[in-house]
Amino acid sequence: MSATGNRRTPLIAGNWKMYKTVSQAEAFIAALLPRVSSLQGVDVAVCPPYLALQALVDSARGSPVQVYAQNMHHAPEGAFTGEVSAPMLVEVGVHGVILGHSERRQMFGETDRALQLKVPAALEAGLVPILCVGETEEEREAGDTERKLRHQVQEDLARVETGRLGEVVIAYEPIWAIGSGRVATPERAQEAIAFVRALVADRSREQAERTRVLYGGSVKSENCGELLCLPDIDGALVGGGSLDPESFAAIADAAASS
Ligand code: PEP
Repeated sequence: MSATGNRRTPLIAGNWKMYKTVSQAEAFIAALLPRVSSLQGVDVAVCPPYLALQALVDSARGSPVQVYAQNMHHAPEGAFTGEVSAPMLVEVGVHGVILGHSERRQMFGETDRALQLKVPAALEAGLVPILCVGETEEEREAGDTERKLRHQVQEDLARVETGRLGEVVIAYEPIWAIGSGRVATPERAQEAIAFVRALVADRSREQAERTRVLYGGSVKSENCGELLCLPDIDGALVGGGSLDPESFAAIADAAASS
């Protein structure tokens, strides 16, 4: 049980985006493992590019570090050139998958309709989905944050059985905070994350209590403490701050003791 008073184990997940070759990933995990192996009460995950998944699964076996992919197709197989499916990830030993990251939504045309299929497909295959949601700067300035979050959470989880909602991890990532160095204030992050949890509670209060909701957007070892202690925040999805093993381990350490 964390010091926030809930029973959800915090998750610190590092989204490497398109960074690190296989050998760089291996060097990272070798440096990370000794720094996190004794941490209690926190789940630690790294999300490398596809090519490094197998190497990291092998290196992290028997350690507390889980390996997640950054995307997948909803179909188990098919004529979808360039895509990777959930069963392929499972066979490699991958634990979960990021879905609906804003970079995929904005640059690669990921739609809520596609996510409606991807989230249940991940669960069905035995992967933990991290569903990313969040508003743009324009939406925030127009007072549209809640409307956007409601739309994304309701649409993207529409085909997830109510009894499995608690298995989905949701990452609230305000798009204006990603890679910008502009982290959301603790008040704003707590408010948005409590709202996301309330949206899940509209379908099931019990499941909403199980659902881990992370914050993402310019989290660093220097600013994570004030976010991770907030009552509704169950960890962080970390981009730039996850590329260095020392700084990533420091964030995991803050979550373990929050
Ligand atoms: C992300 O890519 O999910 C992210 C939060 O990036 P950063 O931490 O670099 O803002």
